[in-house]
Amino acid sequence: MPELPEVETIARGLQKRVAGDAIESIWLGSKPQTMKSPPAEIARTLEHTRIRDVHRMGKHIVFELERNSLGRKPSPAKSRKKAVVLGPRSQWIVHLGMTGRMVVCKSDEPLEKHTHAVAKLASGRELRFVDPRRFGRLSVATQGDFEAGGVEPLEIDRQPFLNLFHGRNTPIKSALLNQKLLRGVGNIYADEALFRAGIRPTRRLLTVPRAKLELLRSAIRDVLKEAIKLGGSSISDYVDADGVEGFFQLQHRVYGREGEPCLVCKTPIKRVVIGGRSSHYCPNCQK
Ligand SMILES: [Zn+2]
Repeated sequence: MPELPEVETIARGLQKRVAGDAIESIWLGSKPQTMKSPPAEIARTLEHTRIRDVHRMGKHIVFELERNSLGRKPSPAKSRKKAVVLGPRSQWIVHLGMTGRMVVCKSDEPLEKHTHAVAKLASGRELRFVDPRRFGRLSVATQGDFEAGGVEPLEIDRQPFLNLFHGRNTPIKSALLNQKLLRGVGNIYADEALFRAGIRPTRRLLTVPRAKLELLRSAIRDVLKEAIKLGGSSISDYVDADGVEGFFQLQHRVYGREGEPCLVCKTPIKRVVIGGRSSHYCPNCQK
């Protein structure tokens, strides 16, 4: 599943490729679970807009759309109605789920299996959403006010971070995965950040001193920034090629290394399940 650094990389790549282009028309598939907003609303919101900007919010890709005089002129009555419903700004929100991909390609490229949406662009290209396992979601915000929930882990300051986490009676790993607190931190980066901060994933937040929490905040930022940097280096070939695979270039120190020696102290890495998710840690380095 793509996590924050992968989504950031994908959003940056899309920004490079399609910002400034315009969506002329949209085709949507018939799988209802992919569409989080009603399909008619998605189509109406996307068609005849210019893509002003593409960016990441949590694990969502957000297309900032601008409505202008693009495309065919609707009848006066219809246009009055549209102006009321849509406003000049709207957003297209894409959550990739497990296997979702955004593909930018020429319009004559054959449609891949599991394509759920095709946006025809004014440049002659198409922006396609492909998702075999269908955990991905497409939605729109008609007034441009999408709220991703939670706080950006790369932006949160020291005090708000402490306020958010200090004194809770939950295992620290579960709190890190709670998207209502921090948005976008997933399993891999939570494990890696806890290792760097020397905190055991099972430890209850109540028992974690403030100084350790401060270390954790820096560790989360470091891990995410490193991964974004690494993901960014493969930016040129992800959208057209095979999508998300090949992104996890971060050198994992604990994640997925059960039984292998800790890179610091050689103690075998342990795996425990917390809240249904695997957690990996060094029993010696993490207390
Ligand atoms: Zn160790």
